[in-house]
Amino acid sequence: MTAGARYCVVGGGISGLVAAYRLRVSAGPDASITVLDPADRLGGILRTDRLGGQLIDVGAEAFVARRPEVPALLGELGLSGRQIATTGARPLIYSEGRLHALPADTVNGIPSRSETLAGLVDDATIRWMLDEPRRPLRWRPGADPAVAELVGDRFGEQVVVRSVDPLLAGVYAGSAATIGLRAAAPTVAAALDGGARSLTEAVRTALPPPRPGSVFGALDGCYQVLVDELVRRSGLSWAQVAAAGVQRTPAGWDVVDDEGTRWPADAVVLAVPAPRLPALIADIAPRSAALARDIPVASAAVVALALPGGTPLPEQSGVLVAGRSPALHTKAVTLSSRKWGRRGNVELLRLSYGRFGDDVARATGDEDLLAWAGEDLATLFGITVDPVDALVVRWIDAMPQYGPGHADRVAELRAGLPAGLAVAGAYLDGIGVPACVAAATRAAAAVVAR
Ligand SMILES: Cc1cc2nc3c(=O)[nH]c(=O)nc-3n(C[C@H](O)[C@H](O)[C@H](O)COP(=O)(O)OP(=O)(O)OC[C@H]3O[C@@H](n4cnc5c(N)ncnc54)[C@H](O)[C@@H]3O)c2cc1C
Repeated sequence: MTAGARYCVVGGGISGLVAAYRLRVSAGPDASITVLDPADRLGGILRTDRLGGQLIDVGAEAFVARRPEVPALLGELGLSGRQIATTGARPLIYSEGRLHALPADTVNGIPSRSETLAGLVDDATIRWMLDEPRRPLRWRPGADPAVAELVGDRFGEQVVVRSVDPLLAGVYAGSAATIGLRAAAPTVAAALDGGARSLTEAVRTALPPPRPGSVFGALDGCYQVLVDELVRRSGLSWAQVAAAGVQRTPAGWDVVDDEGTRWPADAVVLAVPAPRLPALIADIAPRSAALARDIPVASAAVVALALPGGTPLPEQSGVLVAGRSPALHTKAVTLSSRKWGRRGNVELLRLSYGRFGDDVARATGDEDLLAWAGEDLATLFGITVDPVDALVVRWIDAMPQYGPGHADRVAELRAGLPAGLAVAGAYLDGIGVPACVAAATRAAAAVVAR
């Protein structure tokens, strides 16, 4: 127990809230834990709103239930009973003006069998894939090519654009051209390091064995349930201010907010998005600041709609869009009422806009986004219907891009921090909520160990 220790956590998204909770568990009831965040509510990208009378998550809405972090955290917090599974409905891929089934047995869209892509790619691509194990593969253990480079070379460009890109656009708002293999498909990279003689063999080695149960989980009552419980159990004090800098003092650290107020602490967890980190640590950890500054980010806008109950939507969990289709604006649609089950007398859905490298999320007005959503629903499902309720939410610079070599840069970033400072966030060890929970746990342990 570290009686009376003072901690500051900068940023109150899931990363900061988990760090605060872990600090409380380790440091005990006498520790003071202050979370600085200027937003109008805690939770960051975990944000629950009401739409058509129903609760809906308008940022993250799910977590990978097969990773241990979130189920374990829910268990610790007594929330396991609130974990829900998907209905089993699967997404479709929209490519070349048509809807296709999502290929089975892939690792993040990288296929293990050519036949699962029949109809989605042309016959020449299928033949190229079938021939792949016979073509010599040059692989340097530890290499981290862009996913598009490896998959394009081995399986062909159509596999990249029509199978891999739609999944990576959903997760990172990025593309196979900007995401490294070790981030997108670490098990495939490991199989190649381990001596797989072809990409086909590597993907087959990397495919997880079929397991019963849903890949994704969510919370009954949405992510607000988790946010509220973390706030309650961590006993944090919320200072609704933005941190402007962190300074060393004889006793430890001062976090200085943007009005000049000092928040003294023995140790600090910095749980802000990568673009916000350099300003905080430029003086005390210039190399780490520079590395954070170099992590590219993408922005996304979410249009959440409540349509009248009974609107004829397909019995699918959503649609992932391949490439940039002139007929469509959206990059992904989640049919929330199909994915998680119906709530109330409305059909809830979310359409996402904006990809890495464009300014769609920043520059498109709400009216235009809502008009696009109407057009996209007509194009995809042939429906024209006035929503009962609608919300537009923007997540600016929210999605870090895990380019080739990312893990090495993150290791260097962490190594450049002085003792008593630790980082947490979606730009470190994975963009999803489970990886954020893991990185926040590591950050709290690092500052408490000191
Ligand atoms: C649209 C969208 C959908 C997603 N869907 C999923 C999903 O379904 N499943 C999944 O696992 N992941 C999903 N993700 C990813 C996941 O939600 C995020 O990576 C994760 O929530 C990030 O949490 P965080 O706490 O690191 O950052 P954030 O949630 O961004 O929190 C950072 C906080 O820092 C605060 N802040 C910023 N600057 C300062 C400052 N100077 N001083 C103090 N505070 C500051 C901000 O106000 C914010 O509250 C999604 C992401 C987006 C954008």
